[in-house]
Amino acid sequence: MHDGMALDNGQHILIGAYRDTLHLLQTLGINTNTALWRMPLQLQTIDGEGLALPRLPAPLNLLIGVGMAKGWTWGDKFTLLSVAAQWQRQGFRCEAELNVAQLCQNISSKVMSSLIEPLCVSALNLPPHLASAQVFLTVLKDALWSGQGGSDLLLPRVDLGQLMPDAALAWLSQRGAVVQTHQRVQTLEPWLNAPVVLACPPWEAALLTQTLAPEWSAKAAGLAHTAISTVYVKTQQALDWPQPMLALNSSAHAPAQFAFDKGRLSADPQLNGVVALVASASLGERDTISADVMRQLSEQLGIFDATLLTTVVEKRAAFACVPGLERPAMQVCEGVVACGDYVAGPYPATLEAAVRSGFAAVHALKNQV
Ligand SMILES: Cc1cc2nc3c(=O)[nH]c(=O)nc-3n(C[C@H](O)[C@H](O)[C@H](O)COP(=O)(O)OP(=O)(O)OC[C@H]3O[C@@H](n4cnc5c(N)ncnc54)[C@H](O)[C@@H]3O)c2cc1C
Repeated sequence: MHDGMALDNGQHILIGAYRDTLHLLQTLGINTNTALWRMPLQLQTIDGEGLALPRLPAPLNLLIGVGMAKGWTWGDKFTLLSVAAQWQRQGFRCEAELNVAQLCQNISSKVMSSLIEPLCVSALNLPPHLASAQVFLTVLKDALWSGQGGSDLLLPRVDLGQLMPDAALAWLSQRGAVVQTHQRVQTLEPWLNAPVVLACPPWEAALLTQTLAPEWSAKAAGLAHTAISTVYVKTQQALDWPQPMLALNSSAHAPAQFAFDKGRLSADPQLNGVVALVASASLGERDTISADVMRQLSEQLGIFDATLLTTVVEKRAAFACVPGLERPAMQVCEGVVACGDYVAGPYPATLEAAVRSGFAAVHALKNQV
């Protein structure tokens, strides 16, 4: 909360291919049609440059979207389509050690800067030269080739950080579960003979398993992390953007990749004129990030009167999804399984990775008891 406004720790983006997350939200009784703003994938700047997919089945939407992309030459479009066709022919598989920049070396620099870089940084929270090509390909495959709507962007219209845990608590309580919140688990004592699901961040999981499973613990502790910063501002200027999310041109001193019109997304009148600017894989300190993003706001979006509400810097927002990374396995030791976005799996640090991992952990325990 900031001055009575519900501001999330970070603006989340879901995609239509987040099958298990959407299923979970529906199971919890959340109406995904009203809680999420669904729009076809659009990574366009305020002047309409970049990719926007039409509402058509894949891969027709990609072909037409690329064909119509404003600001790209026919050469740019051709390099992207021919490389994408090659990825498809290879079953979206590549060498584990490859990074995204190497994977995309035949793509033009225009398409790299206006499509691949923002996609890579927002999905894997790392720039292309550091990010795992295989994980990037998996995300692309699920988004672009998993059927109609898979690539749609789903933007939360409510504070997701409140919505989901609250709905989960209510769901569990209705089914007789005893839920204890605000209790930090300090030790694990598996001799109580009850199976344990360790659902906490990797650094906490590493501490809790140090003596029980030292090798697993070392792997969890060894994961590096990258930051996401979200700068919230308020403006009196009318925001007549074509859609509630815009792409920005990002660089070292212009760190935000996307801007969100919170007033348009939310039904809360307090959020009118509030813009969230997201800098994935952000580096440096809060004040510098805020100043750089405020400059982007005026230079790229023409907003000159904005006041800074707050900047949330999550230093350990995502594990660094580097090429060839060996993530900790789900099974920690006998009777203990781990779940979370960092547990071994095909996805980067996303809600979908966390939800899939949760389902897998429960399934594994069912088979063990
Ligand atoms: C700023 C930001 C923006 C993001 N944007 C996106 C996005 O656009 N799209 C997307 O898909 N993903 C996004 N993510 C990633 C997504 O939020 C995570 O992948 C997901 O929340 C991970 O879920 P998790 O269950 O693994 O861990 P968490 O959500 O971190 O949950 C772990 C829980 O464990 C609790 N805990 C920790 N230690 C203990 C202990 N000792 N005892 C008891 N409880 C403990 C914590 O309080 C926490 O509630 C973003 C993340 C951040 C930070």
